[in-house]
Amino acid sequence: MIYAPCTSRSSNFSRRQQPRANNTSPACPSATRRRATSSGTRYYVNRTAAHSCQHKAPPKVQEKMQDLIERAEALKGEVTMQDPANQARGARVPTLKNTFVTSDISGDRRQTDVQCTCGSPSTNGFPCIHNVKHAQLIGMDPYDLLHYKDTTAAWREQYDRTLSSRRSPRRISTMIKSIRTTCILPSRRLRLVARRRLCA
Ligand SMILES: [Zn+2]
Repeated sequence: MIYAPCTSRSSNFSRRQQPRANNTSPACPSATRRRATSSGTRYYVNRTAAHSCQHKAPPKVQEKMQDLIERAEALKGEVTMQDPANQARGARVPTLKNTFVTSDISGDRRQTDVQCTCGSPSTNGFPCIHNVKHAQLIGMDPYDLLHYKDTTAAWREQYDRTLSSRRSPRRISTMIKSIRTTCILPSRRLRLVARRRLCA
């Protein structure tokens, strides 16, 4: 019996191989375009959220501060001011373990964080319950303890830096649209990992 060469199978095989070779290429335009569009949309959504926030702090910071304010209510005991002339400078605040720490909420919040001898503000870059207790006692809003980087104003500013205020509103609108639709493709020239050989 003589078998005829199966040309259809070989042609199917080569046809199957072709798309696989395309999938392994570094640039997949549709996927890259999707990523670029989603990141542009995310930028626009975040920028809108920053400008629509009316509170002193962004929502995530509000959650952390609300937790601190609730925990500060559990601090029982007398708070003693070290300097009556400058009540923000130093206060002896009771802890949950019936000991005392010293809280300092003076200074410029654009320059420095608040301080406390419990070590939490210097470690986390965020006020502690003793700072909150201290602030409440002298009539200060606990949200004024936040460093500027954690405020809504700083959140807005990071988006305003990319879109200069000197540009016209129409120009800013065009830039936002271009950010949403621009597809950033990788370079066609692949960079070699190894160093170039100097001698043949
Ligand atoms: Zn503390």
